[in-house]
Amino acid sequence: MLKVYNTLGKKKQEFKPLHGKKVGMYVCGPTVYGPGHIGHARTYIAFDIIRRYFEFSGFEVKYVVNLTDIHDDMIKRAKEQRITIFELADKNIALFFKDLDALGIKKADVYPRVTEHIEEIVEFVKALEEKGFAYATDDGVYYDISKFKDYGKLSGIKVKEQKTGTRVETDKYEKDKVQDFALWKKQKQPDEPAWDSPWGKGRPGWHIECSVMSSKHLGEQLDIHGGAVDLIFPHHENEIAQSEARSGKKPFVKYWLHSGFLNVEGQKMSKSLGNFIEIPDLLEKHDARAFRFFVSGLHYKSRIDFSEKAMEKVDRTLEKWDLFVERLMDIRGEKENPEAKTLVDSTRKEVVAAMDDDFMLPNAWAALQKMQTAVNKQIDSGKFGEGNAKQVLDLLKELNQFLGVFKFEKEEQELSKGQQELINQRETLRREKKWSESDKIREELAKQGILIDDTTDGTKWRKA
Ligand code: AMP
Ligand code: ZN
Repeated sequence: MLKVYNTLGKKKQEFKPLHGKKVGMYVCGPTVYGPGHIGHARTYIAFDIIRRYFEFSGFEVKYVVNLTDIHDDMIKRAKEQRITIFELADKNIALFFKDLDALGIKKADVYPRVTEHIEEIVEFVKALEEKGFAYATDDGVYYDISKFKDYGKLSGIKVKEQKTGTRVETDKYEKDKVQDFALWKKQKQPDEPAWDSPWGKGRPGWHIECSVMSSKHLGEQLDIHGGAVDLIFPHHENEIAQSEARSGKKPFVKYWLHSGFLNVEGQKMSKSLGNFIEIPDLLEKHDARAFRFFVSGLHYKSRIDFSEKAMEKVDRTLEKWDLFVERLMDIRGEKENPEAKTLVDSTRKEVVAAMDDDFMLPNAWAALQKMQTAVNKQIDSGKFGEGNAKQVLDLLKELNQFLGVFKFEKEEQELSKGQQELINQRETLRREKKWSESDKIREELAKQGILIDDTTDGTKWRKA
């Protein structure tokens, strides 16, 4: 039985979608005023694994991630770069998709853009006004949180203890202030992007987009809504207030899932601290698969502390998995070891049990690591045949449907004639136990970018 931790109610619950095997899943997407950073990468990898695990478990998922292409930050950045917000968005969205691809993240079914949903947003705000949940002022339209009795049910924030009737107009929100928030903002400067509306020319506030676009693409009630913990208050609290007020249906979202934040060397990423890492910078230094491996090793709710040191460790563990897979692919011979099937079956069970328990990836990896050690021992003692290797590989391929970290094709690699000769010479030297001479050749090959591993199956090489 699959269980998920629901922020709404703060409990683990059995996962039962609203409509049979169909899952409607929405995750808050990026504000596309610059390239994505590694915090985004963390959140989208975490939800990619969750989405793919639902599919692995037989659910049919429709996955929607919005793109925030109108926002105070978009306007400011576009002005700085002397381009339109649309050009700025196009540029960063293209980059975002490229990064997602490199990180092995499966595309969402829909990536709705706010500026393509202005009509629906105006309709939604009008409905809230008609129902008495919104009021117009000189500068826009605001949501009156005192009218929504359930306000605070997600985050636990208490409305009574706070002064309501105060308003927040910008796209920046204070974490502990309960305030009426903007649904529509009137244009202030003639060069600000603006659309017609019953309240005059203007643009939507930030929270309304997710209520509007989720209902348009997934219906008024969703199975899963995700985002990182920073969005619980006020963003997600406000989404509930908007959506439930409009539809009258409860709950807007059956399961709220929140991923943990990524910090860098123990500190929140920020431009002023100079520890802000954009995805393209990360990918210059590390294999994208290694970052995915890093994230997939941790529970999605846990905080991640990114550091070069941690990444180096991950690089080495991933390399061991790559070598393990290659080793399995190289095994030939008829030998049959009945223990292999038992091992594969019990590992699969352990991984599924771990994932069914709110996607407990550390436990899944512990089971896989245990299997890797046991299989390596069996291969070392010559007990493994091609059939056995295939059983292990088939399991890894199956689990890779949601893990997405194993690589099964050998890269097309070629050695130059000279390099092959050096390797042959080195093997002869090793047979003659001439270690220091053989080490010299290893160093020479390393200089040429060829790394040597001496395994029980003989010498293996790979490109650095
Ligand atoms: P933003 O572009 O800031 O609107 O964020 C887009 C998505 O990434 C949201 O789901 C955020 O919660 C998430 N996010 C932003 N910063 C981080 C971070 N440092 N760690 C993890 N997730 C983040
Ligand atoms: Zn959102």
